[in-house]
Amino acid sequence: MTGGATGVLILGPSGRMGRALLAAAATRADLQIAAALDRTDAPGLDREVAPGIKPTTLIDAALAAAQVYVDFTTPAATAAVARAARDRRVAAVVGTTGLDADAEAALAALAEVAPVVGAPNFSVGVNLLLGLVGAAARALDTGWDAEIVELHHRGKRDAPSGTALGLARAIAAARGQDLAEVGRYARSGDVGARPTGEIGAVAVRGGDVVGEHTAYFFGAGERLELTHRATDRAIFAHGALRAAAWAVRQPPGRYDMLDVLGMR
Ligand code: NAD
Repeated sequence: MTGGATGVLILGPSGRMGRALLAAAATRADLQIAAALDRTDAPGLDREVAPGIKPTTLIDAALAAAQVYVDFTTPAATAAVARAARDRRVAAVVGTTGLDADAEAALAALAEVAPVVGAPNFSVGVNLLLGLVGAAARALDTGWDAEIVELHHRGKRDAPSGTALGLARAIAAARGQDLAEVGRYARSGDVGARPTGEIGAVAVRGGDVVGEHTAYFFGAGERLELTHRATDRAIFAHGALRAAAWAVRQPPGRYDMLDVLGMR
Protein backbone atom coordinates (compact mmCIF):
# COMPACT_ATOMS: atom_id res chain seq x y z
CA MET A 1 0.00 0.00 0.00
CA THR A 2 1.53 3.36 -0.97
CA GLY A 3 1.43 6.56 1.08
CA GLY A 4 -1.33 5.42 3.47
CA ALA A 5 -3.81 4.79 0.66
CA THR A 6 -6.86 2.73 1.68
CA GLY A 7 -6.71 -0.83 0.35
CA VAL A 8 -9.82 -1.74 -1.63
CA LEU A 9 -11.05 -5.17 -2.69
CA ILE A 10 -13.13 -5.12 -5.89
CA LEU A 11 -15.62 -7.98 -6.31
CA GLY A 12 -16.49 -9.12 -9.83
CA PRO A 13 -13.69 -7.31 -11.71
CA SER A 14 -14.87 -8.95 -14.95
CA GLY A 15 -18.37 -7.46 -14.67
CA ARG A 16 -19.82 -4.24 -16.10
CA MET A 17 -19.54 -2.42 -12.78
CA GLY A 18 -16.33 -4.18 -11.80
CA ARG A 19 -14.58 -2.81 -14.88
CA ALA A 20 -15.97 0.68 -14.23
CA LEU A 21 -14.74 0.48 -10.60
CA LEU A 22 -11.22 -0.50 -11.66
CA ALA A 23 -11.07 2.41 -14.11
CA ALA A 24 -12.40 4.88 -11.54
CA ALA A 25 -10.04 3.63 -8.80
CA ALA A 26 -7.05 4.30 -11.04
CA THR A 27 -7.91 8.03 -10.86
CA ARG A 28 -7.82 8.21 -7.02
CA ALA A 29 -4.61 8.65 -5.02
CA ASP A 30 -6.33 7.93 -1.70
CA LEU A 31 -7.43 4.41 -2.72
CA GLN A 32 -5.43 1.49 -3.95
CA ILE A 33 -6.68 -1.75 -5.43
CA ALA A 34 -5.45 -4.32 -2.91
CA ALA A 35 -7.25 -7.38 -4.34
CA ALA A 36 -9.95 -8.49 -6.76
CA LEU A 37 -12.27 -11.47 -6.25
CA ASP A 38 -14.20 -13.21 -9.00
CA ARG A 39 -16.07 -16.46 -9.74
CA THR A 40 -14.00 -19.51 -10.61
CA ASP A 41 -15.45 -19.45 -14.16
CA ALA A 42 -15.06 -15.69 -14.69
CA PRO A 43 -13.12 -14.52 -17.74
CA GLY A 44 -9.72 -12.84 -17.31
CA LEU A 45 -8.55 -14.55 -14.11
CA ASP A 46 -5.03 -14.71 -15.57
CA ARG A 47 -4.79 -10.97 -16.33
CA GLU A 48 -3.71 -8.12 -14.03
CA VAL A 49 -6.61 -5.78 -13.20
CA ALA A 50 -4.34 -3.25 -11.45
CA PRO A 51 -0.54 -3.07 -11.09
CA GLY A 52 0.58 -6.38 -9.54
CA ILE A 53 -3.01 -7.56 -8.88
CA LYS A 54 -4.60 -10.59 -10.56
CA PRO A 55 -8.09 -11.68 -9.51
CA THR A 56 -8.30 -14.42 -6.91
CA THR A 57 -11.21 -16.82 -6.34
CA LEU A 58 -10.43 -17.23 -2.59
CA ILE A 59 -12.65 -15.04 -0.41
CA ASP A 60 -10.45 -15.06 2.70
CA ALA A 61 -7.25 -14.24 0.86
CA ALA A 62 -9.00 -11.34 -0.90
CA LEU A 63 -10.46 -9.94 2.32
CA ALA A 64 -7.16 -10.24 4.21
CA ALA A 65 -5.59 -7.73 1.83
CA ALA A 66 -8.24 -4.99 2.14
CA GLN A 67 -9.73 -2.42 4.55
CA VAL A 68 -12.91 -2.10 2.48
CA TYR A 69 -14.57 -4.09 -0.29
CA VAL A 70 -16.86 -2.89 -3.06
CA ASP A 71 -19.58 -5.33 -4.13
CA PHE A 72 -21.55 -5.07 -7.39
CA THR A 73 -22.21 -8.77 -8.01
CA THR A 74 -25.15 -11.08 -7.24
CA PRO A 75 -27.20 -11.59 -4.05
CA ALA A 76 -25.52 -14.99 -3.43
CA ALA A 77 -22.03 -13.46 -3.67
CA THR A 78 -23.10 -10.55 -1.44
CA ALA A 79 -24.20 -12.99 1.29
CA ALA A 80 -21.07 -15.17 1.07
CA VAL A 81 -18.59 -12.28 1.15
CA ALA A 82 -20.42 -10.37 3.93
CA ARG A 83 -20.32 -13.50 6.10
CA ALA A 84 -16.58 -13.94 5.57
CA ALA A 85 -15.93 -10.20 6.10
CA ARG A 86 -17.47 -10.29 9.58
CA ASP A 87 -14.54 -12.22 11.07
CA ARG A 88 -12.09 -9.67 9.68
CA ARG A 89 -14.27 -6.57 10.29
CA VAL A 90 -13.75 -5.35 6.72
CA ALA A 91 -15.88 -2.33 5.73
CA ALA A 92 -18.34 -2.87 2.87
CA VAL A 93 -19.85 -0.84 0.03
CA VAL A 94 -22.69 -2.82 -1.52
CA GLY A 95 -24.36 -1.85 -4.79
CA THR A 96 -25.79 -5.27 -5.65
CA THR A 97 -29.58 -5.07 -6.07
CA GLY A 98 -32.38 -7.60 -5.68
CA LEU A 99 -30.90 -8.78 -2.36
CA ASP A 100 -32.76 -11.68 -0.71
CA ALA A 101 -33.32 -12.22 3.03
CA ASP A 102 -30.12 -14.27 3.31
CA ALA A 103 -27.97 -11.44 1.90
CA GLU A 104 -29.77 -8.83 4.02
CA ALA A 105 -29.15 -10.91 7.16
CA ALA A 106 -25.45 -11.30 6.32
CA LEU A 107 -25.10 -7.53 5.81
CA ALA A 108 -26.94 -6.81 9.07
CA ALA A 109 -24.53 -9.12 10.90
CA LEU A 110 -21.50 -7.47 9.28
CA ALA A 111 -22.83 -4.01 10.20
CA GLU A 112 -22.61 -4.97 13.89
CA VAL A 113 -18.82 -4.96 13.63
CA ALA A 114 -17.97 -2.82 10.56
CA PRO A 115 -19.37 0.10 8.54
CA VAL A 116 -21.64 -1.08 5.69
CA VAL A 117 -22.78 1.38 3.02
CA GLY A 118 -25.58 0.08 0.82
CA ALA A 119 -27.51 1.89 -1.90
CA PRO A 120 -29.52 0.78 -4.91
CA ASN A 121 -27.93 3.70 -6.75
CA PHE A 122 -24.62 5.42 -6.08
CA SER A 123 -25.13 8.42 -8.40
CA VAL A 124 -25.41 11.91 -6.96
CA GLY A 125 -28.33 12.69 -9.29
CA VAL A 126 -30.50 9.75 -8.21
CA ASN A 127 -29.93 10.49 -4.55
CA LEU A 128 -31.05 14.07 -5.19
CA LEU A 129 -34.03 12.66 -7.12
CA LEU A 130 -35.04 10.60 -4.06
CA GLY A 131 -35.34 13.83 -2.06
CA LEU A 132 -37.20 15.65 -4.85
CA VAL A 133 -39.66 12.78 -5.32
CA GLY A 134 -40.30 12.67 -1.57
CA ALA A 135 -40.95 16.43 -1.56
CA ALA A 136 -43.37 16.09 -4.48
CA ALA A 137 -45.22 13.22 -2.79
CA ARG A 138 -45.56 15.25 0.42
CA ALA A 139 -46.93 18.23 -1.51
CA LEU A 140 -49.41 16.19 -3.61
CA ASP A 141 -52.16 14.10 -2.03
CA THR A 142 -52.79 10.45 -2.95
CA GLY A 143 -55.33 11.65 -5.51
CA TRP A 144 -52.24 12.18 -7.68
CA ASP A 145 -51.42 8.74 -9.09
CA ALA A 146 -47.72 7.89 -8.62
CA GLU A 147 -46.03 5.59 -11.16
CA ILE A 148 -42.36 4.85 -11.76
CA VAL A 149 -40.99 3.74 -15.11
CA GLU A 150 -37.43 2.45 -15.33
CA LEU A 151 -35.32 1.45 -18.35
CA HIS A 152 -32.21 -0.75 -18.20
CA HIS A 153 -29.96 -2.80 -20.51
CA ARG A 154 -30.97 -6.32 -21.53
CA GLY A 155 -28.48 -7.94 -19.10
CA LYS A 156 -30.14 -6.66 -15.92
CA ARG A 157 -31.49 -9.54 -13.83
CA ASP A 158 -33.77 -7.99 -11.19
CA ALA A 159 -36.98 -6.02 -11.81
CA PRO A 160 -38.19 -3.48 -10.95
CA SER A 161 -34.75 -1.96 -10.33
CA GLY A 162 -33.55 -1.35 -6.80
CA THR A 163 -33.65 2.36 -7.59
CA ALA A 164 -37.28 2.18 -8.75
CA LEU A 165 -38.17 0.43 -5.49
CA GLY A 166 -36.22 3.08 -3.58
CA LEU A 167 -38.23 5.81 -5.32
CA ALA A 168 -41.46 3.94 -4.55
CA ARG A 169 -40.38 3.66 -0.91
CA ALA A 170 -39.65 7.40 -0.80
CA ILE A 171 -43.15 8.15 -2.12
CA ALA A 172 -44.80 5.74 0.31
CA ALA A 173 -42.83 7.14 3.26
CA ALA A 174 -43.74 10.72 2.34
CA ARG A 175 -47.43 9.74 2.23
CA GLY A 176 -47.36 7.61 5.36
CA GLN A 177 -48.11 4.45 3.37
CA ASP A 178 -46.70 0.92 3.61
CA LEU A 179 -45.16 0.03 0.23
CA ALA A 180 -45.82 -3.67 0.85
CA GLU A 181 -49.55 -2.82 0.74
CA VAL A 182 -49.67 -0.24 -2.08
CA GLY A 183 -46.81 -1.27 -4.41
CA ARG A 184 -47.90 -2.67 -7.80
CA TYR A 185 -45.22 -4.11 -10.09
CA ALA A 186 -47.20 -5.74 -12.90
CA ARG A 187 -50.57 -5.36 -14.63
CA SER A 188 -52.04 -7.77 -17.14
CA GLY A 189 -55.60 -8.81 -18.02
CA ASP A 190 -58.76 -7.44 -16.40
CA VAL A 191 -57.12 -5.75 -13.41
CA GLY A 192 -59.92 -3.22 -12.85
CA ALA A 193 -59.59 0.49 -12.23
CA ARG A 194 -56.47 1.81 -10.55
CA PRO A 195 -57.00 2.02 -6.77
CA THR A 196 -56.36 5.41 -5.22
CA GLY A 197 -53.01 5.46 -3.44
CA GLU A 198 -51.43 2.64 -5.43
CA ILE A 199 -47.73 3.14 -6.34
CA GLY A 200 -46.78 1.46 -9.60
CA ALA A 201 -43.30 0.55 -10.87
CA VAL A 202 -42.75 -0.77 -14.39
CA ALA A 203 -39.53 -2.24 -15.82
CA VAL A 204 -38.50 -1.83 -19.48
CA ARG A 205 -35.48 -3.87 -20.70
CA GLY A 206 -33.42 -3.55 -23.86
CA GLY A 207 -30.12 -2.79 -25.56
CA ASP A 208 -27.39 -1.05 -23.59
CA VAL A 209 -29.38 1.47 -21.51
CA VAL A 210 -27.27 2.26 -18.41
CA GLY A 211 -30.32 3.30 -16.40
CA GLU A 212 -33.26 5.70 -16.57
CA HIS A 213 -35.92 6.42 -13.94
CA THR A 214 -39.00 8.62 -14.18
CA ALA A 215 -41.41 9.25 -11.32
CA TYR A 216 -44.80 10.35 -12.65
CA PHE A 217 -47.44 12.11 -10.61
CA PHE A 218 -50.71 12.13 -12.57
CA GLY A 219 -53.23 14.75 -11.47
CA ALA A 220 -56.55 15.78 -13.02
CA GLY A 221 -55.61 17.92 -16.03
CA GLU A 222 -51.86 18.01 -15.30
CA ARG A 223 -48.90 15.69 -14.80
CA LEU A 224 -45.49 16.04 -13.14
CA GLU A 225 -42.50 13.98 -14.38
CA LEU A 226 -39.17 13.79 -12.57
CA THR A 227 -36.47 11.97 -14.55
CA HIS A 228 -32.89 10.86 -14.05
CA ARG A 229 -30.84 9.44 -16.93
CA ALA A 230 -27.53 7.70 -16.35
CA THR A 231 -25.43 7.59 -19.51
CA ASP A 232 -22.17 6.27 -18.05
CA ARG A 233 -21.53 3.58 -15.36
CA ALA A 234 -18.59 5.69 -14.19
CA ILE A 235 -21.02 7.76 -12.08
CA PHE A 236 -21.93 4.70 -9.98
CA ALA A 237 -18.27 3.69 -9.73
CA HIS A 238 -17.08 7.12 -8.59
CA GLY A 239 -19.93 7.30 -6.07
CA ALA A 240 -19.13 3.84 -4.70
CA LEU A 241 -15.43 4.67 -4.32
CA ARG A 242 -16.30 7.92 -2.58
CA ALA A 243 -18.42 5.79 -0.25
CA ALA A 244 -15.47 3.39 0.29
CA ALA A 245 -13.11 6.22 1.27
CA TRP A 246 -15.80 7.58 3.61
CA ALA A 247 -16.77 4.22 5.10
CA VAL A 248 -13.37 3.36 6.55
CA ARG A 249 -13.62 6.44 8.81
CA GLN A 250 -17.06 5.50 10.24
CA PRO A 251 -18.06 3.41 13.24
CA PRO A 252 -19.86 0.09 12.61
CA GLY A 253 -23.42 0.46 11.29
CA ARG A 254 -25.62 0.63 8.19
CA TYR A 255 -25.29 3.72 5.97
CA ASP A 256 -26.55 4.78 2.57
CA MET A 257 -25.47 7.26 -0.08
CA LEU A 258 -27.38 10.12 1.56
CA ASP A 259 -25.06 9.70 4.57
CA VAL A 260 -21.98 9.72 2.34
CA LEU A 261 -23.15 12.83 0.48
CA GLY A 262 -24.14 14.60 3.72
CA MET A 263 -27.72 14.88 2.37
CA ARG A 264 -29.45 13.25 5.33
P1 NAD B 1 -22.40 -8.13 -14.28
O1 NAD B 1 -23.13 -9.41 -14.48
O2 NAD B 1 -21.80 -7.43 -15.45
O3 NAD B 1 -21.21 -8.38 -13.21
C1 NAD B 1 -21.34 -9.18 -12.06
C2 NAD B 1 -19.94 -9.62 -11.62
O4 NAD B 1 -20.05 -10.35 -10.40
C3 NAD B 1 -19.22 -10.53 -12.62
O5 NAD B 1 -17.89 -10.10 -12.76
C4 NAD B 1 -19.27 -11.90 -11.94
O6 NAD B 1 -18.20 -12.73 -12.34
C5 NAD B 1 -19.16 -11.45 -10.48
N1 NAD B 1 -19.55 -12.48 -9.52
C6 NAD B 1 -20.65 -13.28 -9.54
N2 NAD B 1 -20.62 -14.13 -8.50
C7 NAD B 1 -19.48 -13.86 -7.80
C8 NAD B 1 -18.87 -14.40 -6.64
N3 NAD B 1 -19.46 -15.43 -5.97
N4 NAD B 1 -17.70 -13.87 -6.19
C9 NAD B 1 -17.10 -12.87 -6.87
N5 NAD B 1 -17.63 -12.30 -7.99
C10 NAD B 1 -18.80 -12.81 -8.45
O7 NAD B 1 -23.40 -7.16 -13.50
P2 NAD B 1 -23.37 -5.56 -13.37
O8 NAD B 1 -24.15 -4.95 -14.48
O9 NAD B 1 -21.96 -5.12 -13.10
O10 NAD B 1 -24.27 -5.39 -12.04
C11 NAD B 1 -23.93 -6.04 -10.83
C12 NAD B 1 -24.92 -5.64 -9.75
O11 NAD B 1 -24.79 -4.25 -9.45
C13 NAD B 1 -26.40 -5.85 -10.11
O12 NAD B 1 -27.10 -6.27 -8.96
C14 NAD B 1 -26.86 -4.45 -10.54
O13 NAD B 1 -28.24 -4.24 -10.38
C15 NAD B 1 -26.07 -3.63 -9.55
N6 NAD B 1 -25.87 -2.22 -9.93
C16 NAD B 1 -26.02 -1.32 -8.93
C17 NAD B 1 -25.76 0.02 -9.17
C18 NAD B 1 -25.83 0.99 -8.01
O14 NAD B 1 -25.54 2.18 -8.19
N7 NAD B 1 -26.15 0.52 -6.80
C19 NAD B 1 -25.37 0.46 -10.43
C20 NAD B 1 -25.24 -0.50 -11.44
C21 NAD B 1 -25.47 -1.85 -11.18
